[in-house]
Amino acid sequence: MNGEKSFRVFKSRPDETFQEDVRDHVRKTGQPETHPELFTGRIDATEPFRTLCKITVDARRRPNGDRAPCPMCTPNKFLEGRLCWFPEKQVVAVIGHCCADKENEAASRAEDIKFEEQGYLLATLPLSPEKLCVVNRLLPKAHEANRLFNKFRSDCRELHAELRQLKRVDGDLTVYIETERPRDSEGPAAFGGSNIDRQAVSFGKIAGTEIFSSKLDLVEQLMTVKRLIEKSLQGEDEMHILNYIVELDLFPDGRAALCAELRDADRRYREAVASLIDVASFFEGDNLSRLDAWGTHPANPLGLTVSIEDRHGVSAIVIESSLGTTRLSPAEVLFLPFEDWPTPLAPKRPVRTAATADRTPPPAAAGDSEPPSAG
Ligand SMILES: [Zn+2]
Repeated sequence: MNGEKSFRVFKSRPDETFQEDVRDHVRKTGQPETHPELFTGRIDATEPFRTLCKITVDARRRPNGDRAPCPMCTPNKFLEGRLCWFPEKQVVAVIGHCCADKENEAASRAEDIKFEEQGYLLATLPLSPEKLCVVNRLLPKAHEANRLFNKFRSDCRELHAELRQLKRVDGDLTVYIETERPRDSEGPAAFGGSNIDRQAVSFGKIAGTEIFSSKLDLVEQLMTVKRLIEKSLQGEDEMHILNYIVELDLFPDGRAALCAELRDADRRYREAVASLIDVASFFEGDNLSRLDAWGTHPANPLGLTVSIEDRHGVSAIVIESSLGTTRLSPAEVLFLPFEDWPTPLAPKRPVRTAATADRTPPPAAAGDSEPPSAG
């Protein structure tokens, strides 16, 4: 071996555990060059590499107060280095920040992104057909929520707008009773302030305030989810999906956009579900009772009542006030349980094949001389 120390062969990028092992070794010894698995021979400056992590050498731990040697340039070179994998030489070494140039760092970052995006697509694309089915089965619920919203708004636009105030106070149902205090009493009035007492009466919180929104279109929201998913629909065949992901290597920008769209579809779907849950919660009995108690309190200028009306076997919720009246009959579909949104069971391994590095037989294991809690 020409006097050179042994080192480990890495056919693929080393994992986190190995990186932590090197960082730990350098923390304890200050000497990256003595790690048994790192390559310490000469490395040509043009050799391509991938940066794995930063390595900081504590100068006080260096045996001769020197700096760590950089295999790419000179001995006694750095305290701030990078742990790097050299894919063509199949070795890992710590080089100085001097040599960890921008070009290689950029390539490393690009590879990290590719690795992450491929893993995401591999896990996510096979779920697309099932996601579309879930969205399709949710559409009747969204149609019903839209219908109730539109009916409420068109029946009594003014009352609907008035109740929108409840959205701004987070659904807080409070009325204020104002009473005039006698002139001769003590209090702020004696100092020229108001002589009106303001007493708050709270009826709790109302749920389902989305129905008072100025705009609500959950069908459109779900159609957007469908459009985003359909753009990259590849079926369920794993080989076909794999080929598609490999083809995307030629279009990294397109791959990034695709990942963003699929994440956007997930986010929009969750928002739609949250809105549907909210709209359904408005029609719960307790909730309507609270609204009625708040609305009929003598101090509430709206004079709003909520009642149930039975007409020809169809019951309707009647919301009535001086500003208008609406009759709403929510269909059963609004209250049906939700299906699970397909999500990957575990993050899948990205396309890159070899998952673990191959080992050269390790040198005769030296006993662990390091006490467990040194320092
Ligand atoms: Zn260097």
